[in-house]
Amino acid sequence: MSHRVLVTDTLAESGLAILRTAEDVELVYSPGLKGEELLREVARSDALITRSGTAVTEALVRSGSRLRVVGRAGVGLDNVDVDACTARGILVINAPTANIMSATEHTMAMLLSLCRNIPEADASVKRGEWVRSKFMGTELNGKVLGIIGLGRIGTRVTVRARAFGMRVIAYDPYVADAVYERVSAEKVTLGQLLAQADIVTVHTPLTDETRGMIGPDEIAKTKEGVIFVNCARGGIYQEQPLAEALSSGRVGGAAIDVYEDEPPKNNPLLAAKNIVLSPHIGANTIEAQDRVAVQTSEMVVDALRGSIFVSAVNLPFEGVADADAAPLINLAEKLGLFTAQVINGAVTRTVVELWGVEERLTKIISVAALKGLLTPYLSTSVNFVNAEQIAEQREIAISSTTHPMPRDYNNLITFRASTEREEFCVSGTVFSEKNQRIVSVNNFRVEFKPEGHLIYAINKDVPGVVGKVGTLFGDREINIAEYNLARTSTTGKAMAIITVDSALDPETLNFLRSFREMEEVKQVKL
Ligand code: NAD
Repeated sequence: MSHRVLVTDTLAESGLAILRTAEDVELVYSPGLKGEELLREVARSDALITRSGTAVTEALVRSGSRLRVVGRAGVGLDNVDVDACTARGILVINAPTANIMSATEHTMAMLLSLCRNIPEADASVKRGEWVRSKFMGTELNGKVLGIIGLGRIGTRVTVRARAFGMRVIAYDPYVADAVYERVSAEKVTLGQLLAQADIVTVHTPLTDETRGMIGPDEIAKTKEGVIFVNCARGGIYQEQPLAEALSSGRVGGAAIDVYEDEPPKNNPLLAAKNIVLSPHIGANTIEAQDRVAVQTSEMVVDALRGSIFVSAVNLPFEGVADADAAPLINLAEKLGLFTAQVINGAVTRTVVELWGVEERLTKIISVAALKGLLTPYLSTSVNFVNAEQIAEQREIAISSTTHPMPRDYNNLITFRASTEREEFCVSGTVFSEKNQRIVSVNNFRVEFKPEGHLIYAINKDVPGVVGKVGTLFGDREINIAEYNLARTSTTGKAMAIITVDSALDPETLNFLRSFREMEEVKQVKL
């Protein structure tokens, strides 16, 4: 059977070649297709490949009665209504890893440009000047580079910086020590990094935790004349304080590719001193574009042929997998996601144990659990294809076992994750075909739906705690949907899983943590 693939943006030749040579693909290459004609063509196609030129809206998706796959040849999904696609069983595929090397090299390029005044020197020579003394640079050799976020790009920047003779120190609470050792970066706290680094570069995603993580207080802890680099995401540095510190000379320089609002308007960094700026071009290389085209085309063809191991951001399952397995796979992902938000420290080992689950699902369920575990702290790119590889790069040992006979439940998935200090274990089941429940957390027996906003709390098992929590939430008009309480006779501790209608603000969360009886409080979103 031939699959009709419609491409509505220009795509690198290397990607088109894959579609042209696939025997079961009919390629319709119409870059720039718009309006009624676009809708008509989408209605006749099995897959649509776009870059950023075509808005994949709900209306467009609705017109695609045959549409099964949308391929976004790139990383961002701003122009794709993923929810609308999911609701109609359409798989959305992107190419999130194609630009890692380009972004790594751009970081080095920006840093070197700044240290050797390349932009000004270039402009000066072109003006006909010859003023060599004005452009006194600094060497990287012998300097201390502080890397925040030791993921795919952070590790690659480490390797390159060391080749330049730099000492690299790094802060990333979510990677195992073995990752630091592998790339010869010294593990430090954020405070130590700020105090010791000559140059600070961030390589984290933008999350609630990293938004604004470098502000006036952090700048105050750095060395006089420190340099800041951001080729990750705008908003990790607070722009106003950074601009002020640059202009006062407290910060010696900055190299910035990304901005809180893009394109930057009235951004204080535009007028700051000693700064090199670029317009979010970290990923813009011919090689990255080629890789994007190849990866997207390959994945779209694989998906049309029925593979589930594709670089999909959603998993609607229709057409690509056995729909009956969806709730189990999705439950596994939630067990991983729950663990990621509750466990303390970097995970070094995971084990998935299955009871009463078909053996053929072992691999996909294990990968789903890993995907859930890795997603909260990584850039938006963990998927069913790369989750195992990312785990390996992060030095996480993974294993799984299956037991054909069910135990207390018809089916049960147990996910164990270990750090250097603790093991965390969570189990869940699916009953009546699609009702998911988490049934135990560590040694606590519970029963709650893995969805929405949850508070995980461990407290001393003494009278009055539930009342205090209820009063606090009541006073602050926080609606409790469910209050699950579990106790173990041996430890004298109780665990509560409280489902609330909306996320708690940081102040309420801290208030809850301040209760004498509370030992641990974590907010979880599933
Ligand atoms: P990654 O997911 O592989 O690594 C991110 C790392 O940040 C992880 O190791 C994670 O543990 C760590 N981290 C998360 N929260 C942290 C925190 N609070 N403190 C310290 N570390 C934390 O991501 P990547 O592929 O290396 O990408 C890094 C960044 O670069 C992302 O923001 C990505 O979007 C961005 N990026 C930018 C461009 C560009 O055009 N400028 C291109 C590609 C990627």
